[in-house]
Amino acid sequence: MLETPEVVVLGAGVAGSALAYHLARRGVGPVVIFDPQPLSGATGRAAGILTEQLWDPWDIELVRETKEEYRSLSASRDPSAYAVNGFVRWASGPDALRSLDAAAERLRCWSVDARPIDLGELSRVAPYARFEAEHRGLYSPGDAIVTPSSIATIYLDLARASGVSLEAGSAMTSLASGGERWEVGAGSTRIRTRHVVVAAGAWSLGILRRIHRMVPMVPYRTQAAVLRPEPGADVFPSFHDLDEDVYARPDSRGRVLAGDGTELVAVDPERARWAADASFEAHLAEVFDRRLPVWKEARLEGSWAGLCLATPDRRPLIGPLPGAEGAYLLGGFNGFGVMRAGAAAARLADLIASGGSGTKELAALAPVLPSRFRGELGPFPIRPGFTLDEGPDPRF
Ligand SMILES: Cc1cc2nc3c(=O)[nH]c(=O)nc-3n(C[C@H](O)[C@H](O)[C@H](O)COP(=O)(O)OP(=O)(O)OC[C@H]3O[C@@H](n4cnc5c(N)ncnc54)[C@H](O)[C@@H]3O)c2cc1C
Repeated sequence: MLETPEVVVLGAGVAGSALAYHLARRGVGPVVIFDPQPLSGATGRAAGILTEQLWDPWDIELVRETKEEYRSLSASRDPSAYAVNGFVRWASGPDALRSLDAAAERLRCWSVDARPIDLGELSRVAPYARFEAEHRGLYSPGDAIVTPSSIATIYLDLARASGVSLEAGSAMTSLASGGERWEVGAGSTRIRTRHVVVAAGAWSLGILRRIHRMVPMVPYRTQAAVLRPEPGADVFPSFHDLDEDVYARPDSRGRVLAGDGTELVAVDPERARWAADASFEAHLAEVFDRRLPVWKEARLEGSWAGLCLATPDRRPLIGPLPGAEGAYLLGGFNGFGVMRAGAAAARLADLIASGGSGTKELAALAPVLPSRFRGELGPFPIRPGFTLDEGPDPRF
C-alpha cells in the first residue's frame, strides 16, 4: 500500500470506482481505494435502469454523459453489461395522467426523446401487460439498462491497470485532519493523503461523523426481486407503473427484475434488513397477477433490499465538504446513482485535478455542491428519486 497517495477514495461502489478511473485518466495519483467489501452496497443490488425521464435538466445532462460512457466502456470491455431497450411509464388515474402530461411537456422542452403514447401504442410497446381504457404512457425508446456491478468492475479494472491500488477487505477505521494532509487509518496502517473522497454510499454518514462534518443525507431502504416467467420473457422496454408504483426491466436468461417497495423512513446501515419483506413480494405477485397476466405464473428466484440516500432537494451531494479542506463527498444519489455515477465522478475528478478549487470545475458541480446546505441539518421528508416531477405525491 502507498504511504502517501495523492487521493484516497473510501468506497468501491460504482461511484468510487468511476472516480478512481477518472482520476487516473487525468493523471492524478497515486490513488488508493479502500473498501471492506467492494460491490456489497447499493451497486450490487441495483436494477440498473438508465432513463432520461427525470425532473431536473441538470440531472438529464449527467445521465446522458454517463450513458454514453457506459455504452462505450461496455462495447470494448463487456458488451453484455449495456443494452438499449427503451423505457415506458404508464398510468391511468387522473392525477397520474396529469403528471405524465406535464412531464412530457417539460421533457420536450429539454430535448428528451420521450413521447406520449395512447392506449394502442402502449399495448404494442408492452404487449405483456393488461391495460384499462384510461391508460396512457410516456415512452423513451433510447433509454437503456446496465448490469451495475459489471460497470463498476470495468471502472475498477481500468483504474487498476492505470496504477490505482484497491485495498479490498480494508475498512477505514480512522480519519483525521493533520494540517495540509488527511490521515487515514485502516487497522494498524496509517497513510497520509492530500485529498480524501467519501464515496461509501449509506455508510458515508458514519465516516462524516468521525470528522464532525455532517450533511443532510438520510439512508432509506428499497427492494427488488428477480422473477422467472415460463417461457422466459423477450427483451422488453423497462417500465414504471405509476398507479402500482412497480418498475421492471428485462434480466438475463429471460428473467424479469422488478422492484420498488421503497420505505420512506430513515434506517441505520448497521442495523438494516437486507432480505426483502414478505409484503413487498406479495405486492409484486398481486401486480403481476392483475397487470402482467402473461407473467403471472412467474417464479420468484430471489429478492433483496438495499439502501439509497435521500437529500432534502433530491439532488446528490458532490464536491468539497465545507470546512474540511481536501475532503470531498460523492453520494446522496436519491436512488439514481447508477445512472449518474460516470459523469458525476468525471466532474469531481476534474475538480480534484484542478487542486480542489478550480472556478470552472466548481461551477460544473454548482447544483450539487454540499455547501448549498451549510448549517441546514434539520429533519426533512424522504421522497423517492424515481419520480416525474417535484410534486408532493411520492409516486411522482
Ligand atoms: C434495489 C435498488 C434498485 C436500484 N435501482 C437503480 C436503478 O435502476 N438505476 C439507478 O441509477 N440507481 C438505482 N439504484 C441506486 C443505486 O444503486 C445507487 O445510487 C448507487 O449504486 C450508489 O453507488 P455508490 O457507489 O455511491 O454506493 P454503494 O454502491 O453503496 O457503494 C458504497 C461502498 O462503500 C463501501 N464502504 C462501506 N463502508 C466503508 C468504509 N468505512 N470505508 C470504505 N468503504 C466503505 C461499501 O462496502 C460499498 O462497496 C438502486 C438501488 C437499489 C437498492
